[in-house]
Amino acid sequence: MNFTSKAKKNRCFVLEMALAIVLLGSCQQAAEQENTATEQETAVVAAADTAQKRPAPTFYLIPPNLVRQRVWICDDAASDIFHTKADCPVLLECRGKGNFRNVSLQRAIEDYGRYNCQTCSKDLDHIFDEDMVR
Ligand SMILES: [Zn+2]
Repeated sequence: MNFTSKAKKNRCFVLEMALAIVLLGSCQQAAEQENTATEQETAVVAAADTAQKRPAPTFYLIPPNLVRQRVWICDDAASDIFHTKADCPVLLECRGKGNFRNVSLQRAIEDYGRYNCQTCSKDLDHIFDEDMVR
């Protein structure tokens, strides 16, 4: 009588252990899946970071005296502005990321789809201002 009860208890223990292992296993699996989801989210955020480039300007009007003006651009995947000052801090951020180019203002806008830099070329806002009275 006593012996049977002990054996029953042992079997219960084994079952409990098995259950615990199964639970642990499924917990670990869930955690792994969560990790994968986080990684995917990070990838999406990274893609959004590089996709901040605006589409090329749909309107621009370059005054005749500025057509031949030389400007600087950073030729990389994210830049969408040109600079009139070679030492503009925004332009200097290009170092190590892309190629510097010195092109005419017209080429910067037409070929590279650039807008004026708000740090060094704010006075050129009017080129893209469709509503400005000329
Ligand atoms: Zn600038």
